[in-house]
Amino acid sequence: MIAMIANNDKTQFDAIVVGAGHAGIECALALAKLGHKVLICCINLDSIGYLACNPSIGGTAKAHLVREVDALGGVMGQLADKTSTQIRMLNNSKGMAVQSLRAQVDKYKYHAYAKQLLEQQHNIYLRQCEIVDIKCESVDAKKDELKGNNFKFNLTTKLGQNYCAKTVVLACGVYLQSQILIGQDKFNSGPAGFSRSLNLSNSLKKLGIDFRRFKTGTPARIHRRSVDLTKFEIQYGESNIMPFSDLTTKPLKNTSVCYLGRTSCSTHELIKQHLHLTFKYNKQSEDLSVGARYCPSIEDKVVRFADKTSHQFFLESEGEQTEELYVQGLSTSLPVDVQQKVYSSIEGLNDVEILRDAYAIEYDCIDPTTLTPNLMSKKVDGLFFAGQLNGTSGYEEAAAQGLVAGINASMYLSNKPYVYFDRHLSYIGVMIDDLVTQGTDEPYRMMTSRAEQRLRLRQDNSWMRLTPLGIELGLVCKKREKRYKALLRQFVQLMAKSEDKLNADTVLKHIGVTSTMTVKDFIKRVDVNVEQLAKMDVFSKFDVRALNAFVAEQKYEGYIERLDRELKEVQRLEKMTISIDSFDSIPGLSSEAIEKLQRIRPQNIGQASRISGVTPSDINALIVFLKKRITLNKKM
Ligand SMILES: Cc1cc2nc3c(=O)[nH]c(=O)nc-3n(C[C@H](O)[C@H](O)[C@H](O)COP(=O)(O)OP(=O)(O)OC[C@H]3O[C@@H](n4cnc5c(N)ncnc54)[C@H](O)[C@@H]3O)c2cc1C
Repeated sequence: MIAMIANNDKTQFDAIVVGAGHAGIECALALAKLGHKVLICCINLDSIGYLACNPSIGGTAKAHLVREVDALGGVMGQLADKTSTQIRMLNNSKGMAVQSLRAQVDKYKYHAYAKQLLEQQHNIYLRQCEIVDIKCESVDAKKDELKGNNFKFNLTTKLGQNYCAKTVVLACGVYLQSQILIGQDKFNSGPAGFSRSLNLSNSLKKLGIDFRRFKTGTPARIHRRSVDLTKFEIQYGESNIMPFSDLTTKPLKNTSVCYLGRTSCSTHELIKQHLHLTFKYNKQSEDLSVGARYCPSIEDKVVRFADKTSHQFFLESEGEQTEELYVQGLSTSLPVDVQQKVYSSIEGLNDVEILRDAYAIEYDCIDPTTLTPNLMSKKVDGLFFAGQLNGTSGYEEAAAQGLVAGINASMYLSNKPYVYFDRHLSYIGVMIDDLVTQGTDEPYRMMTSRAEQRLRLRQDNSWMRLTPLGIELGLVCKKREKRYKALLRQFVQLMAKSEDKLNADTVLKHIGVTSTMTVKDFIKRVDVNVEQLAKMDVFSKFDVRALNAFVAEQKYEGYIERLDRELKEVQRLEKMTISIDSFDSIPGLSSEAIEKLQRIRPQNIGQASRISGVTPSDINALIVFLKKRITLNKKM
C-alpha cells in the first residue's frame, strides 16, 4: 500500500522529475495520471518543452514515435497538432511503412501549451530550481527494505531547498555541464542562453553514475526582412493530412510555408578556409565530445561530401508572432564573423541579418547500457533516466523515453511488474532495446531501418498496437478509449469486406479498368490509395484512420504473414529468460561474450542475441546451458 503524502506537504513527493523538456513532460504527466504526487523541476520555466533546434515535430521514423506516444495517452502529438503551422507527409511516394508526418510548429505556442498542461494537471507540482545534489538513502537498498518512510532520495537545489521522493527520473537533456562552442570560444551555458546544470553530474558520480560527452549543433536564426525570398523555392504544406493525434478530429491547416535554398561552391570554399577555427577541425584544440552523425553541421557536410557542389537548406518560421527564421541544414560552430560571411555568401541571404548565432553544445550524458529495459539505473534502484541524457537526439526520442520512464517509475512505486516495450511491436521498443542492449557511441536518432518489423510498425496502426496497453495501464482518457473502440469496430468491418466483389462499373470509374475484382485485389494495386477509397460510396462513411490501417494491412498482407512466421521464432527466444549470476562458468562462451553478457545482463535470449560481440555460437552455448539447467531443476 503506497504511504499517502499530505497534499499540502511541499517537500515530500512520490516522484521527482528533474527536467521539463520533452522527456520530463511526458514522464511527469504519466506519473500524475497514474495517481502519484509529482514534483517536476526545471532550471527555467520558460524552457518547458523548448524546441532548442528545429521548430518542427516528426519526420522520418520520428513521426512513428510521436504516433506511438499519442496512442499510449502521451501529449506530444496533441501539442504538435495544436501548434502546427504546416503539415507534410514525407516519403509519400514510398510505401506506407516509411511515410512520416512532419509538422512545422509555433515553438512559442508549443512551450505555452506544454507549460499549461503541467500547470493544470492534478498531482503535478512545478518548480523553477536547479537540482545540484541528489542523495540516496542506500544505493542498492531495495525499496521494500525501507519500510514506512521510503523517501530514499533527497534532492537539494542551488538555493538549498530540500525535496525528498521515493523515486527520481532524471530528464536533464543537454544541460549537464553543458558548454557552448562557437569558433575557438567555449563557454559555460545551456542551450539558447538558458543557464546550464553545474553540479548534478558530480553528485551523480558519487552514486556511481558515469558520464561521457556528446554534442549537437544548431543553425543561426535570421530576420525574415533580410532575406530575398524570391531566390528560394516555396515549399507548401499538404492538405487532408492525418494529424498526429487520434484525438485531433479537425484536419490541420497550413498557415506558413518553408523556403528551399541551396549553398554554392563559393560558400563551401569559404567554409574550408575557416575549418581550422572550429574545435572539431582544429588539430590543436582537444574535442572529445561526439556529435550527431544524422544532424551534421554544414562544415561536416562540406568535408564529408566534398564532391557535392551544393547542399540544400530550408528557411522555417519559428512561429506566427515572430520574424525569426530557422535555417534548417546550416548548423555550424564557425566563429560568428565567419557565420555572417558564410550565410551572406548564399544567394538570397546576401544581406542576411543574424538574430541568434549558430553554435554547438557539448554536454554530459550516460551510457544507456547501464540501464535496464525499464530505463532504471542498474546501479541505483528507483533512479530512472530519460531523454537526451541517455544518448539520444531528438524531441520525439526524448518524449517516448519520458513516457516509458514515467510508466515504470509508477510500476516501481506501486510494486507492479515493469512494462517492457517489445521491439517487434513498437518503435519505442526498438529504441529502448537498441539503447540498453547495444548502447550508442554517438547521439542516437530513430530511423525506420532500425526496425526489423517496420512493415508492421506503421504510423497508421499505432492506435491498434498500443492504445490497448494505454487503456490497461490507465493512461488513456475516456475520449481516446471511446475513439479507439470506434476505430477498431470500423477496422473489423472493413477487414470483413476484403473478399467482397467490386462490380466492374465501380472499378472502371475509379481506376479505368474493366473487370470485377475483390476489394483486396483492388487495394493491392499500386495505383490505388486511401484517398481514392475514401471517395468510394462503399467506404466513404469510414474514418480515415481505420481506412488507412485497412489499406496498409491489404497492401502488406503477404509481407506481414512472413513477418508473423519470423516473429514467432524470435518471440520464442525472447521468452527464454536468463537469470544467471555469473556467465564465467558457462562452457563454450567466448571471453568477449562473457564480458558483454556480464555487463549488459540481458533479460532473455532474444536480447542477448542482439548484443554486439555475442555470436550465434555463444547463443547456442547459452541455450544449451539453460535447457540443461531446466532439466536438472525438474529432476530435483
Ligand atoms: C543546440 C541544440 C541542437 C539540437 N539539434 C538537434 C537536431 O538537430 N536534431 C534533433 O533531433 N535534436 C536536436 N536537439 C535535441 C533536442 O533539443 C533534444 O533532443 C530534446 O530537447 C531532448 O529533450 P529532453 O527532454 O531530453 O531534454 P531537454 O529538452 O534538453 O530538457 C532538459 C530539461 O532539464 C532541465 N534541467 C537540466 N538539468 C537540471 C537540473 N540540474 N535541475 C533542474 N532542471 C534541470 C532543463 O531546465 C530542461 O527543462 C538539439 C538540441 C540543442 C540544444
